[in-house]
Amino acid sequence: SLPPDCPPDAEALGRSTWTLLHTIAATYPTAAPPEKQAEMKTFMNIFSRIYPCWVCAEDFQRWMERPENKLVPGQEGGHLGGRFSFGQWMCGAHNEVNRKLGKSEFDCRRYEERWRTGWAGGRCD
Ligand code: FAD
Repeated sequence: SLPPDCPPDAEALGRSTWTLLHTIAATYPTAAPPEKQAEMKTFMNIFSRIYPCWVCAEDFQRWMERPENKLVPGQEGGHLGGRFSFGQWMCGAHNEVNRKLGKSEFDCRRYEERWRTGWAGGRCD
């Protein structure tokens, strides 16, 4: 029989969580109405306080508080305006963690292929 499943460590939790976060960003409206923007800000703020890897959560909160990363609903050209902007924001958030952990950075121009459409050439059919 198979070994029993075990509680996730920070790595397994991280992989699953990024899958959820990037999939949320990749399915966010292409142009988000004000109420969707406010909802997403609330979600990300609460997420950053309850993510159950406490050192990770603390660093992530600090990153979100930087002026250039702040989520401001209704802001002209803001990160919450629509799918493209929000995806690029999420990509930047993940790259910040990649840098911190010494992992290679992801090319954010390929965000849609990785998280929404699948790779050009059909590897994800
Ligand atoms: P992951 O980093 O989990 O990435 C999964 C897949 O996402 C990759 O295979 C790649 O296809 C894709 N990807 C990679 N980078 C990007 C990007 N920039 N944009 C879009 N897609 C991308 N771990 C710690 O040890 N310390 C921490 O402080 C820490 N902080 C974290 C904070 C948050 C908010 C989250 C969600 C996770 C955090 N983690 C942290 C976990 C860490 O980021 C990784 O998830 C974990 O180390 C497993 O890494 P991995 O190499 O399997 O790939």
